[in-house]
Amino acid sequence: MEKLYDQDSHLRFFTAKVLSCEEAGSLHAIILNRTAFYPEGGGQPADTGMLGGLRVTDVQERQGTIFHLVGGPLEPGSDVEGAIDWDLRFSRMQQHSGEHIVSGLVGRMFGFDNVGFHLGSDVVTVDFNGVLSDTDLERIEHLANAAVYENLEVEAFTPAPQDLSGLSYRSKIALDGNVRIVRIPGYDACACCGMHVARTGEIGLIKLLSGRRHKGGTRLEMLCGYRALQDFAARHRDMSEMSVLLSARLPDVPAAVKRLMTENDSLKKELAAMREKRLSDMVSETCTLWLAKEKSASGWVISKDGLEPSELRRFTLLLTERISIADSDEGAISESEKRPDERIGNELRRRPDWLIALSANAGGGCYYVAARTSVRKPVLPPTKPAVAESAIDLRQLAKVLNSACKGRGGGTPELVQGSLEADRMQAENVLHSFL
Ligand SMILES: [Zn+2]
Repeated sequence: MEKLYDQDSHLRFFTAKVLSCEEAGSLHAIILNRTAFYPEGGGQPADTGMLGGLRVTDVQERQGTIFHLVGGPLEPGSDVEGAIDWDLRFSRMQQHSGEHIVSGLVGRMFGFDNVGFHLGSDVVTVDFNGVLSDTDLERIEHLANAAVYENLEVEAFTPAPQDLSGLSYRSKIALDGNVRIVRIPGYDACACCGMHVARTGEIGLIKLLSGRRHKGGTRLEMLCGYRALQDFAARHRDMSEMSVLLSARLPDVPAAVKRLMTENDSLKKELAAMREKRLSDMVSETCTLWLAKEKSASGWVISKDGLEPSELRRFTLLLTERISIADSDEGAISESEKRPDERIGNELRRRPDWLIALSANAGGGCYYVAARTSVRKPVLPPTKPAVAESAIDLRQLAKVLNSACKGRGGGTPELVQGSLEADRMQAENVLHSFL
């Protein structure tokens, strides 16, 4: 088995003789007398391509024999044409050679070893057993690209075993015998069986994308050559789109985003304050309405259509709080000075024991929130508010409402909330029995 790829990493087409063809599940495993297909190994995936008109989906080496997995049988003894998927192979060579330069630099500058290498279908990850700062990464990236511009020859050779001991090279394990060395003069020498470019200029741009802490060391993500170019094009497209959306020049995009975020924060605060003010005004209006009526009922049904459940809840709580406040201040302020809602608080006989707010929603149903008023005395938080013997358990009310109006919801004896499928008028009719 002649390994043509070892002699020439740029060989795309070749002719070989089929030595054997065996079924392997749904595929056929072909052995050739020579091949340019690189079998998976050394962190580099297997080549794919065409062989004798059939698709090669995988190439594996077992005990020195290389098996090409193809979609059909090939006649043993026949000559076949092979073609590897060159774009994919070349991209992998760019990534692999770029990785060697970076690993060589990290080893020489910082003394850290490459302890993991993954050549995936998108980014390449390399793990080092030491921590690299952002500044370190910038220096490494700069020097790695300098190695590209020097357009150095990438040497791949297998020294005689007696010469190997005299060589200094990176290796994950102690090696002897026939070891293939890949050397980039001045930058790296490494034991490697993978495929490499012929000169460093073929690698193109080496871009380190990120370096993050990983198992006490650093996991580096990087791209080389066409992949780096594609990534740059995608990033540039994104940034240009953002630049148009923000009406900012490219260099001003980050500042424009920060400005937008600050604006958004203050708008959110403003909106929250306005919502609170609107609800507070609604509460005052509602109190005035109550005062205008002569009431003796224990409960109070209020309609506030168009409020979302959270707003309705806030409204109910504000109203409950407002008309409960005056309990402790009773007599402290003269009637004429009090706001209408404070007057309700003082007019205990007229104040409801509980109230329920209903809000018709767009779906034809309504939301409800009910609260007891008589037990809320926020001025005296340490003492547990006294509950009147006759106080209604609002869970009972919610239960009746839910079953009569196809609803769901519940809560505590003092506060319940939910939603009903029936409309608000129907809910009001049901509530009459509680007043
Ligand atoms: Zn390698």
